[in-house]
Amino acid sequence: METNFTCPDQEVVVAFELPSSPDEVVELWSYAISINCPVCGGSHDVLYRDVYLVGLMKELRCIPADVQRARLH
Ligand SMILES: [Zn+2]
Repeated sequence: METNFTCPDQEVVVAFELPSSPDEVVELWSYAISINCPVCGGSHDVLYRDVYLVGLMKELRCIPADVQRARLH
């Protein structure tokens, strides 16, 4: 699925493709994954479940994930 994360160095939202077959979700759920960041060229660790939920909300609501997150607080 497509999801978003925010580069912590540049504060830019990046879309990327997350492995999300049922097997991969179960396997990766509790772990951090490493993302090669196209914005700053570094790599960032994010919790799989965090970006998975962001991707899920993107698919369901079709509004930007950072807007979703803002509304939760
Ligand atoms: Zn970055």
